[in-house]
Amino acid sequence: MNDTSLIMIPVLASGAMLAAVAFLVWKFDQSGLGGTCPQCGYDLQGKISGGCPECGWNRSGTGSREDPS
Ligand SMILES: [Zn+2]
Repeated sequence: MNDTSLIMIPVLASGAMLAAVAFLVWKFDQSGLGGTCPQCGYDLQGKISGGCPECGWNRSGTGSREDPS
């Protein structure tokens, strides 16, 4: 092991750590854990498992969208 690789180890480790943190923040932002629909922004009050009644995101069984005509 030479000097260059000894220096690169902490650099790569901190870089990977920063990337992991950034990825987690991004995932948290995308996942709708804040309680809003990730598709239309409708306030689901945290109940994202039931899907979105506004745009039909994540709804199952009844189809993606109810369209009264
Ligand atoms: Zn929605």
